[in-house]
Amino acid sequence: MKVIPIGIWGGYPKANEATSSFLIEHEGFHCLVDCGSGVLASLQNFLPLEKIDAVVISHYHADHIADLGSLQYSRLIQFYLNNPSPPLPIYGHEQDAENYAKLSYKEQTVGIAIFEDKITKIGPFTVSFCRTDHPVYCLAMKFSVDNRSVVLTADTEWRDELVDFAGETDLLISEANLYEEHIGIAPGHMGGSEAGKLAQLADVKRLVLTHLPLHGNNEDILEAATSNFNGTTEIAEVGKVYRV
Ligand code: ZN
Repeated sequence: MKVIPIGIWGGYPKANEATSSFLIEHEGFHCLVDCGSGVLASLQNFLPLEKIDAVVISHYHADHIADLGSLQYSRLIQFYLNNPSPPLPIYGHEQDAENYAKLSYKEQTVGIAIFEDKITKIGPFTVSFCRTDHPVYCLAMKFSVDNRSVVLTADTEWRDELVDFAGETDLLISEANLYEEHIGIAPGHMGGSEAGKLAQLADVKRLVLTHLPLHGNNEDILEAATSNFNGTTEIAEVGKVYRV
């Protein structure tokens, strides 16, 4: 399984970059996790849009769904150009009915519900979910193939359940949106020290930090994570291939 960061920013993107999104690939199947601002522009550096086989959405905040409409237009335009594709499945939770309904569009994309207590098969992946602690309902996810796994926390404050959920995963992609002085003040997110603590308690093999703030020096977040985790820790690098 290959994991490629497409966007690493929380809230809004840096110039010519994108908010949090990851491409997960195995045996030619391409699954996009989240589709926020700037993601379509970034993704095309690595994959033609028509090669996406599935999309999974963690929650319906704009920095995770802003480019979904443009992705749907890309399918519709190819349909008009006589290059139709089968409807693209977009997986998301049903807790927000209005946004869930928007996952389906003119037979170009079709929304499929995901649940925190239900394992879902997506292409070659077995995917399970865990509720996070965020101002809106949000799901962390674990992609497994052949006894290998990657866990993505999505957006969350510290939550004990995530330790078990991420237990012994090969690659933990954790949000680390806060500098240490903002932990407990800004709701719904973790700081680097908490991402490191999660990786350490869950005994993961490798930690990659994402959903970073544009302000400040992100190296401080990396340093805070490293202080709590003995394993390999790095800031997600767009386009880098993480092999699991
Ligand atoms: Zn969010």
